[in-house]
Amino acid sequence: MITSFILAPTDGKSIMDYKSGQYIGVHVDPTMSDNKEIRQYSLSDSPNGKTYRISVKRETLPIAGIVSNYLHNDVEIGGYIYLIPPAGDFFLDVKETNPVVLLSGGVGLTPMVSMFNQLVKNNHQGSIHYLHACLDGKHHAFSSHVKQLAELHNNATVTTWYQTPEKADKLGCDYDHAGSKQSRRIYFTTRNTLLFLWSSSFYASGK
Ligand SMILES: Cc1cc2nc3c(=O)[nH]c(=O)nc-3n(C[C@H](O)[C@H](O)[C@H](O)COP(=O)(O)OP(=O)(O)OC[C@H]3O[C@@H](n4cnc5c(N)ncnc54)[C@H](O)[C@@H]3O)c2cc1C
Repeated sequence: MITSFILAPTDGKSIMDYKSGQYIGVHVDPTMSDNKEIRQYSLSDSPNGKTYRISVKRETLPIAGIVSNYLHNDVEIGGYIYLIPPAGDFFLDVKETNPVVLLSGGVGLTPMVSMFNQLVKNNHQGSIHYLHACLDGKHHAFSSHVKQLAELHNNATVTTWYQTPEKADKLGCDYDHAGSKQSRRIYFTTRNTLLFLWSSSFYASGK
């Protein structure tokens, strides 16, 4: 459903820096289109100076999306694509002691994973609460990575909503809440923590 692509410059030089939350443009020439196509993809990893990572959902409804399917079907390891440099005024900008709340729905998780990575890398002093909602376990990218990140931080929680969990999805392990009514409404409490609306920095991204 969601595939990550790690993109490195062909000349081996360093890449343009970016802030967690920003996106790049992808400029491709897909066979299923008469035109060259440009789409934006959030950078899903924190900056490392060498590569960009994007994580792309294959769009299938009501018809196959041009660029997401081109990336999934036709771009192979070692292939080339043109990029447009990082941009965007949605990026992580917090005081190091501020509680941070990251909220995402579906593939909207990509900038949140980048921010979460960055906060843990920075040894962020404030608490971090990551709340994510998606359809089910098959549509839940970065699930184990996010859990591992939370374990690396001494004050991070992760709460997950599945709209329609499948048999293989385990309550309390893969997700914390289920059902369309609940998944439409995220209460501002996590398992044990009241989120302080007045002092937290909130970042939300969804589709
Ligand atoms: C800042 C930003 C960041 C983003 N980050 C991400 C990200 O991290 N990951 C990610 O996966 N996406 C991300 N997106 C979305 C991404 O840019 C693309 O919009 C997405 O991949 C769909 O592009 P596509 O070419 O596959 O689909 P398109 O071909 O552009 O189609 C888009 C939608 O319209 C429907 N459609 C197309 N033609 C018709 C028609 N004739 N009739 C009815 N419906 C039709 C398709 O089924 C599809 O659902 C981001 C967008 C922005 C603006």
